[in-house]
Amino acid sequence: MSCAPPSSETPITSPVPAAVETVTKPALIGKNLEELTALMADLGEKPFRAKQLFQWLYVKSARKFEDMTDLAKPFRQKLADNFTVGPLTMVERQVSADGTRKYLFKTPTGQTIESVLMYFEDRDTYSICISSQVGCAVDCKFCATGKLGFKQNLTVADITDQYLAVQADAGKDIRNIVMMGQGEPMLNYDNVIAAIRLLNTAAEVGIRHITLSTSGIVPKIDALAKEGMQLVLAVSLHAPDDETRNKIMPINTKYPVAELMRSIKDYIGTTGRRVTIEYVMLKGINDSQWHAEKLAELLRGVKVNINLIPYNPIGDSYGFERPSNNTIMRFMETVMASGKKVTVRVERGSDIAAACGQLANQYIEKTSA
Ligand code: SAH
Ligand code: SF4
Repeated sequence: MSCAPPSSETPITSPVPAAVETVTKPALIGKNLEELTALMADLGEKPFRAKQLFQWLYVKSARKFEDMTDLAKPFRQKLADNFTVGPLTMVERQVSADGTRKYLFKTPTGQTIESVLMYFEDRDTYSICISSQVGCAVDCKFCATGKLGFKQNLTVADITDQYLAVQADAGKDIRNIVMMGQGEPMLNYDNVIAAIRLLNTAAEVGIRHITLSTSGIVPKIDALAKEGMQLVLAVSLHAPDDETRNKIMPINTKYPVAELMRSIKDYIGTTGRRVTIEYVMLKGINDSQWHAEKLAELLRGVKVNINLIPYNPIGDSYGFERPSNNTIMRFMETVMASGKKVTVRVERGSDIAAACGQLANQYIEKTSA
């Protein structure tokens, strides 16, 4: 597939022409090979049909049964009578000035979710940010998704199909997946893990190219350590001390910093994998030199990289601001002086509310209109 940067495209919002209906037939995407084999047996078909289907669904990213050209026509018809390819209906696609694309999908239960496709010129790679839940119960004070509250867990099919539908629509080979869209993946643990396994083994996305970001659900980090998965774990720490973290992340009262650090260290000990520490920069709240020094001290000797995320505005009423570039640089230098690798996340798609933490903004506006 072509990997030309999409940034030459003009910003557009394109409603997808297909009628938006609630899909009622079960979807085949989301099924593993065993499950597909059982479904084909129910239809009176031989096991090799399941293998052919598996290829079409996950490797060739087919979106219609009629495109599965090496399947006999009556079989394709039988499939179409009983199933849909994927569960998601694309409702809208927006393209940012920087080429980032935000997709709005409708689930079979009538909920809407967002996925974001980004192109990174320096590495010439595409990366997709996918959602794990509709809304989120964790209620981080700086996050637009948190404002929605929790609506629903996404199914294995809903999670997997975001990747497949966007790959087919964009015609790009997407080699990186970040689970940083709407929702807390660790609070939909079983479906998220099953979807990751499918994306890795069926859609052939390298497991080390899949990142799962969590607000720090300690028992689930402990469980993930035992899965034997080589994925990248990112933890939203956002403050090195309980007093600051309690103010911005209520989950800290349940899983405070010391317990979270114990879990992160155990995870590193068990898996041998480096963990990414995410740190949203909020002016006057967690961006002081004291915080930088305290963070460096907390992470001393722990095998982590640190990713600073300058706050993306979600609305004036929430009372947060992004620190100045100088403050961010000073904070970065202080932490780097302790020998850690520190990066600052580049903002993508903020003009279409696709940057970190902004997902759900437009959904709120539309539904409250
Ligand atoms: N629920 C998961 C993953 C989704 S959000 C988690 O919380 O880790 C991905 C990252 O964006 C998280 O580190 C999150 O804290 C951060 N984020 C949320 N709102 C933000 C905002 N308004 N500006 C910048 N980053 C934000
Ligand atoms: Fe949920 Fe993550 Fe947003 Fe917190 S930052 S409210 S955990 S989506």
